[in-house]
Amino acid sequence: MARYIFVTGGVVSSLGKGLSSASLAYLLKSRGYKVKIRKLDPYLNVDPGTMNPFQHGEVFVTDDGAETDLDLGHYERFTDINSTNLDNITTGKIYSTIIDKERSGKYLGNTVQVIPHVTNEIKSFIKNKTSGFDFIICEIGGTVGDIESLPFLEAIRQFSNDVGKKNSLFIHLTLVPFIKSSDEIKTKPTQHSVKELRSLGMQPDIIICRSEIPLPKDQRKKISLFCNVDIENVIETVDVKTIYEAPISFYKEKLDKQVLKYFKIKTKKLPNLKPWHKTTNVVLRSKQEVNISVIGKYVDLKDAYKSIDEALIHGGIANNTRVNLNKIDSEKLTFSQIKNKLSNTNGILIPGGFGKRGTEGKIQSIKFARTNKIPFFGICFGMQLSLIEFARNVLKIKNAGSTEINKKCTPIIGLIEEWYKDGILKKGELKKIGGTMRLGQYECVLLNNSLIKKIYNSNKIFERHRHRYEVNINYKEKFEDKGLIFSGMSNNNKLPETIELKAHPWFIGVQFHPEFKSRPLNPHPLFASFIKAAKNKII
Ligand code: GLN
Repeated sequence: MARYIFVTGGVVSSLGKGLSSASLAYLLKSRGYKVKIRKLDPYLNVDPGTMNPFQHGEVFVTDDGAETDLDLGHYERFTDINSTNLDNITTGKIYSTIIDKERSGKYLGNTVQVIPHVTNEIKSFIKNKTSGFDFIICEIGGTVGDIESLPFLEAIRQFSNDVGKKNSLFIHLTLVPFIKSSDEIKTKPTQHSVKELRSLGMQPDIIICRSEIPLPKDQRKKISLFCNVDIENVIETVDVKTIYEAPISFYKEKLDKQVLKYFKIKTKKLPNLKPWHKTTNVVLRSKQEVNISVIGKYVDLKDAYKSIDEALIHGGIANNTRVNLNKIDSEKLTFSQIKNKLSNTNGILIPGGFGKRGTEGKIQSIKFARTNKIPFFGICFGMQLSLIEFARNVLKIKNAGSTEINKKCTPIIGLIEEWYKDGILKKGELKKIGGTMRLGQYECVLLNNSLIKKIYNSNKIFERHRHRYEVNINYKEKFEDKGLIFSGMSNNNKLPETIELKAHPWFIGVQFHPEFKSRPLNPHPLFASFIKAAKNKII
């Protein structure tokens, strides 16, 4: 039977529950166990797909097309275990399932209530398809004490009671602040948070203390005493210089060992930390570096392009190079500033995006990259805009655009039903906003002799998509006459998936999101190649 590990957070949010869960998962996996991580999010959206990245950060997409919380990206990157649509649940999803059931008469005769109906639904999500796994790590979003998380906390309390303490473990992550003026570490917020958790019927078995400075023995003792946990189960997590140090630092603090001890599991196999040491070394100490400009509209929020930032750093790891990210707000980017702002850049990346705002700044930057032969990587919207730039400035189609931005343009990019007469999708399939995109993994066939085929070293690839609009294939020949190659097509040969320029050292656009499949211990070939090209560019 699988053992369940529940990770809750206290005091404040953003303490790194995701990273802690992902690191623990790596350590257990590396010791030879089969691990799964799930995220339970207390918000009312059915999924984060319709949320603004400013509020929620990036939307992470799984192979099977689920739009999920960005923590699932951490999980995949650290464990190299692909998530599925069963691994992220929200209050919205739970309630919509329950309301559907209620409407179809499944609860006939009963009053539908938070306990037991909502909690049962949460419990069955936690358990769904877990056979064959040794550990299921469930991270509960939010902070203990929030109104919204109550049903989730009640559900995990019940769950632990159902499967028994020997099969379930509670980890609570809290903040242990350091007060500079008095030169003191304070344990009181942790005590209060544990008290709050206890009032909901849960006693943590392990407390992870996030702290600016190492926790002295006395403070550990105090937490152990007041919070009723073994002193060995008071684990510190001091701010790391790079997140890739996290598995190393949790191993040093014996987190995985204590988890195994709790479950009375004896093993001699130790986790392999060598790759993390190597990765950390490159990221922190490599003498070589490149400057990459990421031009987008959500640059002010740290997590809005999380997987892109990570994948670029992974590309650096593959080239033993540090990657300095220069985030540029496309909305504020005027033509006259471009030369100045991009003058010391080794490579330009335009990430995915939606809507009109900031598109002109992006298009001008693409022109700058194309004409100055600066390595350019366009992802999803970035690729669509690079085609628009080429259509306007090389094919001289003045009004070239995307119907997403301007309904009256010459549609180089449009909804499939707008340009593909026979229709690939069923009528009306694109009418609703939520849940109507091409999502998840699709096959793409790469053209012989193309740069991209050389990079992947394969002619068939599988990558994840998240977009509503498609490149209008009717312009293919016009583009190709002027040296822009449609180097990758969908397997039915109807949808352009990748493009590149003949007369450019590295100019690639992809309709999919390769960043979702990059891993620090296994960098994505496109990002590795992009950074290599950027490194070779002499400023
Ligand atoms: N807005 C574009 C579309 O829907 C691109 C989406 C994206 O970049 N993820 O097709």
